[in-house]
Parts: sequence; structure tokens; C-alpha cells
Amino acid sequence: MDFIVSELEREPIDFDLELVPGAVDLGQQAEQIGQLASSGRAEVIHENRGPKDIVADIRLRGRFSGNFQVPCARCVEPVQIPLEAEFDLIFRPAEADTEPPERSITAPETEIGYYQKDSLSLEDVLREQVLLSLPVRTLCKPDCKGICPRCGVNRNSQACSCDEGPEDPRWKALAGLRDQVKP
Ligand SMILES: [Zn+2]
Ligand SMILES: [Zn+2]
Repeated sequence: MDFIVSELEREPIDFDLELVPGAVDLGQQAEQIGQLASSGRAEVIHENRGPKDIVADIRLRGRFSGNFQVPCARCVEPVQIPLEAEFDLIFRPAEADTEPPERSITAPETEIGYYQKDSLSLEDVLREQVLLSLPVRTLCKPDCKGICPRCGVNRNSQACSCDEGPEDPRWKALAGLRDQVKP
């Protein structure tokens, strides 16, 4: 869904959508499971920068909720993450800020972005909001044992015989020897 500035100038647009997986391109970082619901309002706010310098900003307020799946940082098994968040964002025309603004019109909780040409894509905004809301590092469980770096087995479901290896001082000595022997 694109918000066209000239349409928003006539009246604000309320939206209430269910987006199918793929509508918002999350790249490799996450996968959307089921519908992504988003509702809110888009409107134009005129920013007076001088008698002949009025900038049409788009203010986008709303919320989204959905289920996402990301790989566990240790064992790469998929982990489901339900997300729900609100946003209140201001988008300026990309060409408006070639010079830094003298003052900010926005409240501290409002973030500033930019829109290209004459429209703003809701899907682009949601992609950024979803990716920002995802935890930086996800574990399938706090004590995930991860993948054995030597044999590749998922240590949560299977024990492997290399487990004790690196911790045993005798193995360390042997490993040292092996390094010396290597050409
Ligand atoms: Zn894991
Ligand atoms: Zn192993």
C-alpha cells in the first residue's frame, strides 16, 4: 500500500490491513509466519520553514502484530517470535533535507525518515519496523548447547563423542603436537 502525498493532502487515510507472507520483504533475517496485521493513520503535516518554504511531511501512526521465525544464534533451528509494536513516524521528502534543519518540529518519541518522490510505501515502513523490533540475538532456549563445531551435530538432540575433547588437557597437548607436526 502506497500513501500518495497529494491524496493525503485532501484527507488523512486510515488503514487496517492483513499482509500475507512475502508482501513485506524481510530478506534473509526473518520469515513471516501467517498474516501480518497493521492498522493506523497516515496524514500530511506541513512544516513551515519560511514564507515560501513549506515542506509536506507524512506522519504515519499505527501498530502491527504478527509471528516471525528466525534462526537460533547457536543451533540455527527456527525460533518463533511473536511481535507487536506501535509506531509514530515522520517522513520528509528526500529532497527537503539537503541542508540540515534549523529546528526539529517533532516530539522526542517521534522518529524521522524520508520518502522518495511523492509517496511512501507501507510495506517498506513495516519491513524496517519489524526488523527493528526483532531481538538482536535469538536463542531457541537460554541454555541452547548449539552445534558441535567438530562434527556438526545439534547438541540439544544428540550427544557426540567430541564433547569432552577440547576441555581435556591431554587433548590440548595432543592438539599442540598436531599443530607442530603440520607442514
Ligand atoms: Zn538453539
Ligand atoms: Zn561433535
